[in-house]
Parts: sequence; C-alpha cells; structure tokens
Amino acid sequence: MDTFDIIVIGMGPGGEHVAGTLAERGLRVLGVDHGLVGGECPYWGCIPSKMMVRAGDVLAEARRVDGLAGAVGDVRPDWSVVARRIRDEATDDWNDRAAVERFTKKGGTFVRGTGRIVGAGRVDVDGKPYAAERGIVVNAGSRAAIPPIEGLDAVPYWTNRGLIEAKELPGSLVVLGGGAIGCELGQAVARFGVDVTIVESGPRLLSAEEPEASEKLAVVFEREGIEVCTGVAASRVSGGDGGVEVTLDDGTSLSAERILVATGRVTDPGAVGLGSVGVPEDARVAPIDERCRVTSNVWAIGDLTGKGAFTHVSMYQAGIVIRDVLGQDGPAADYAAVPRVTFTDPEIGAVGLTQAKARDGGLEVTVGVTPLGETTRGWIHGVGEDGFIKLVADPARGVLVGATVMGPYAGEILGALAVAVHAKVPVETLSSMIYAYPTFHRGIETALADLKGHA
Ligand SMILES: Cc1cc2nc3c(=O)[nH]c(=O)nc-3n(C[C@H](O)[C@H](O)[C@H](O)COP(=O)(O)OP(=O)(O)OC[C@H]3O[C@@H](n4cnc5c(N)ncnc54)[C@H](O)[C@@H]3O)c2cc1C
Repeated sequence: MDTFDIIVIGMGPGGEHVAGTLAERGLRVLGVDHGLVGGECPYWGCIPSKMMVRAGDVLAEARRVDGLAGAVGDVRPDWSVVARRIRDEATDDWNDRAAVERFTKKGGTFVRGTGRIVGAGRVDVDGKPYAAERGIVVNAGSRAAIPPIEGLDAVPYWTNRGLIEAKELPGSLVVLGGGAIGCELGQAVARFGVDVTIVESGPRLLSAEEPEASEKLAVVFEREGIEVCTGVAASRVSGGDGGVEVTLDDGTSLSAERILVATGRVTDPGAVGLGSVGVPEDARVAPIDERCRVTSNVWAIGDLTGKGAFTHVSMYQAGIVIRDVLGQDGPAADYAAVPRVTFTDPEIGAVGLTQAKARDGGLEVTVGVTPLGETTRGWIHGVGEDGFIKLVADPARGVLVGATVMGPYAGEILGALAVAVHAKVPVETLSSMIYAYPTFHRGIETALADLKGHA
C-alpha cells in the first residue's frame, strides 16, 4: 500500500494550501481531487464570478457618465469578451495543469480520483488503498443545492457552473434564489441586457444580512430593471431547450430562456467517509474543534465545516491545520469576525453579528447608522452611492460586535471594521481616531456618534 504522512482529500483553496505547504516542509503528501485542483473558487466561483461582476460594473459606470462627465456614446456590451477572459485568463479552459504542477514541484504527489476515508489512517481512491501515517485532511467543499421542484430535472437548468462556462447569454433568465450568488450573477448579466427575474422564497434578498441592505438592494435592482419576487417559491418548472416556464406557488408563472438555480450549497461529510471516524452519517457539516480537528488525526476545513462558505475561511483554517500538523503554536480558530462581501453594485460587506443575530444571542446591543448619501463623499459620488454604514455595539463591553457597509467599495471599507470587531477595539478608541476627508469610511465616525446617541 502506498504510504504518506498526510493525505488531503479535496484540493479546494484550503486543501491545496495545506498540501503544498506541508510538501514544501518535507512531509510525504498525497493530494486527491476528482475535479480540478484549486476547487470551486478559481474555476466556477469567486474569480470568474468577479470577472463577470467587474464587467457588469464597467458597463454600469459607463452608463453613468451622462450627468457626471459628459456623454459616452453608445455602450455596446459583448459577453464574448467576458467569456474569453474567464476561459483564457482565469481558468485555462477549465484545466488545472498549472495548479497540479505547482503542487508536484513542491514535492507532493497528486492522484485524480474520488477519495474516501475507510478507517483510521486509511483512504480509498477509486478502489486503490492508501495509508496516512500522520493524518488526513478533508477539504471536500460544497456543491450547488438543487431544490426538489417538480419538472426541474427535465429542463436544462444552470447552476453557477453553467453560467460561468456560458459562451453566450440567454435573452432572459429566471434566477431561483436571492442569496449572494443569485444577486451577484443576476445583476452582472442583467447589465449585459439579459432580462432577469429573481425568485426568492424568503421575505427578502440576502436574508442573512441586515434588512436595510436587502431593502436597498431590491430598490437598486428594480431601478435597473431586474424583477424581484420575494415570498414566493417555484413549485413547477416545464419546458426545454427553447425556454422554461416557472410556476410560482402564488399561482402566477414566469417564462424565460434559461433558469439559474442559486438556492444555496450542500455539504456531505458522509460522502467522504467521515462516518468511518465517528461522524454521524446524517451530519450536514464536519464537526471540528478549535484546531479544525474532527479526531486526533483527521482535520476538516472549508465549506464542509459550516463556518462560512468563503475562500478566506478555507485559507484561514488551512493555516491552523498546517500549524497543528507541524506542532507549532498559534491562536485557536475564532469565527467572531468572519468578513463577508456580496459583490453587487453597490457592494454589501459585513462582519460579525447583525443586529438581529446579536439580539437572538441575548446581547442588548445598540446600533449606529450613517446613510452614505449623507456623507460628503457619498454626495460627491452621486449616482451609485446607495448605501449606509451600520454598526452593532455591545455597550456592556464597549466594543463593536458587528458592522455592515453598503456602498461603492464596501468590501474595502469593511477592512477597518473587521479590525475593530476582530481586535475588540474599544468604541472610545474608534471615536478618537482621525478619519480622512472626504472618504466613504469617514462615515464610520458619524455612525459611531449615532451609536452614542442610542446608548
Ligand atoms: C458563484 C460563486 C461565487 C463565489 N464567490 C466567492 C467570493 O467572492 N468570495 C469567497 O470568499 N467565496 C466565494 N465563493 C465560495 C468559494 O468558492 C468557496 O468557499 C471556496 O471555494 C472554498 O471552498 P472549499 O475550500 O471548501 O472547497 P471547494 O472549493 O469546494 O473545493 C473542494 C474540492 O474537493 C474536491 N472533492 C470533493 N469531494 C471529493 C472526494 N471525495 N475526493 C476527491 N476530491 C473531492 C472537489 O472536486 C473540489 O475540487 C463563491 C462560490 C460560488 C459558487
């Protein structure tokens, strides 16, 4: 049996980092992936979707020239430019040879196949047994959730993968799901002229975020011609290559050339054999401790752990596992300040707890809000400045426990607030800082003052 120190099953962003780093440190590392090394993020997730978003934003900005800077003439969107960039620059036509080579050059061994833990220190890859003397790291990720809607299986629906690989866009698109992926992709293609309808069964878009963000985003979408249907679910889908008809549970129906399913992600710890090391077969996520250990010699990282389906969480956990395997000291995992950004225009960045989550957790919080349009920079910016800064503070400890920024560059402005929540910077200290004029982040100072008003 081929024996290694460490076997990494699933080479998503975190798995690739763990495998490569440990191989560089001289450990015998086997990396296993049945898909592409790098995982969802570079091929069908963060990177190509943000290329689409960037392209859509450029079109929107060009259309804003009128009234701010003159006239730009005829803006003619061309999806083939985006499709080519995604194929040639981002994904190498969905080929991972560069990533595999990067790993093997570090000394790792790569096997393409489906890995499964079959006992302590034992992994099966498509029928071939392997042994791991130091341990096994699982980074099996997540896949698009497909809701059990009558007729859906019979139509050629897209998930994120289908849309990201698309060489051409349809004339119209029904997006099932108003979460981050549905909103980002829906808005990006709408800016290329696709007639987009977003169907969200919950009461609002981006249900995990502050309701103010959901409301404002719905207004922006309506203004841009994106139809938003909330509080209704698709109950039946019919049609074929020529187009689909979606029946909603309020009795109305929608028709479109295509349907995009963006109703969340599913994880499956059982599929990777975590049951064989004691994880309940019906577990929805891999249970981990503060060092990402499932057992003393099995670690899990990434979407599979349910700590935040983000590349930065996968990479953060990878760092913890690397230190643990190498026996190095380091801080235990702390998820109190996980930042998250929805890359719509305007962006919505958040860190820590929302007001509702904090209250659900029993905290008596105070909030402070600045509408971005009331800041000097927001006013100067003009069209496209929709947004706000909202701070959630725990007055008992005098620190922020959460914050949301909606607006241009919100993901960048969020950086300051992520430091504040992570490092538990006292509100007094934040209030005594100097904020550059006229920046968007200067709105933090005003929101802090508002916070005091509510204390
Ligand atoms: C459209 C979209 C946009 C996104 N945008 C962002 C963003 O802007 N920012 C952000 O932080 N995150 C974003 N994400 C999420 C991000 O892609 C994931 O959180 C990230 O890829 C980390 O996932 P992971 O490390 O758990 O593994 P994944 O990337 O899911 O990779 C898991 C790997 O494991 C392999 N695998 C699974 N099971 C097995 C097995 N049994 N044997 C062998 N191999 C196996 C798979 O083939 C895959 O390569 C986005 C996701 C999507 C879908």
